[in-house]
Amino acid sequence: MNSATHDLSRFAINQITTPMWSLPQAIEGYARHGVHGIAVWRNFLDEYGVTAAARHLRQANMWVASLCTSVWLNERDPWAFREAVDANRRVLDAAAAINSPCLVMVVGGLPAGDKDIHGQRTRVRDALFELAPHAAATGVKLGLEPLHPMYAGDRSVLNLMSGAIDLCDELGDISGLVVDVYHCWWDPAFASGLRRAGRERIITFHYCDWLVPTRNLRDRGMVGDGVVDISRIRRWLDEIGYRGPFELEIFSELDWWMRDPDETVRIGIERCAPYIGPLRAAHT
Ligand code: ZN
Repeated sequence: MNSATHDLSRFAINQITTPMWSLPQAIEGYARHGVHGIAVWRNFLDEYGVTAAARHLRQANMWVASLCTSVWLNERDPWAFREAVDANRRVLDAAAAINSPCLVMVVGGLPAGDKDIHGQRTRVRDALFELAPHAAATGVKLGLEPLHPMYAGDRSVLNLMSGAIDLCDELGDISGLVVDVYHCWWDPAFASGLRRAGRERIITFHYCDWLVPTRNLRDRGMVGDGVVDISRIRRWLDEIGYRGPFELEIFSELDWWMRDPDETVRIGIERCAPYIGPLRAAHT
């Protein structure tokens, strides 16, 4: 089979899956394989320039699933914290310029030298409330992505789906969830969390796999190579009527990042194909 035989209308590739490619290369590369959805990373966007990127995305008929990621908010110093919040306002502007429906909020771990994870979670909540009016003005949602607890120290203190939904409850419609099988597959409350979130609040959904053994913190697997029951998870999404995008997002220092990106994209499409099609009738 090739990509022409699959319905790729809901499928996007997250740019971190092919870090050898610049943004223009990724746009052309994904389109070459019939994929017109892309999740853009901020470092690649900065390198290309927002105006050039917006034009190229339009010309290549690409839709943007998300912009990754926010500037970290792990600052104890009030002045530095304010700078981080302001920087995120500018990232929201960039997200709007490329028609991204959301900015993926990866909020940072603990501030240097700090052990107060509760305090940092409060700081993150404050920042989200400060950003909400600007998000509303730009029309870009704050996409809360809970990260696996192993990242709590250095990448994000937002770790549980239930906590992310609690924040969405408080923030209202300008927020939503970015859900990743890698971060949530182990959670006994994953299915109930999806039901509680509801289809409207899930902005985009990330696919990859959990490898056994996992060799380091950037050792995510290709769909099908690990222990995540993606078929069952897709069924849960169908049961709540989720109609949003599915992104392939693989951090893989030791394997997929080393391969020819064309190969990664080709295999990624084949592996994801059973799980990215249109909404199916709920199973009984
Ligand atoms: Zn993700």
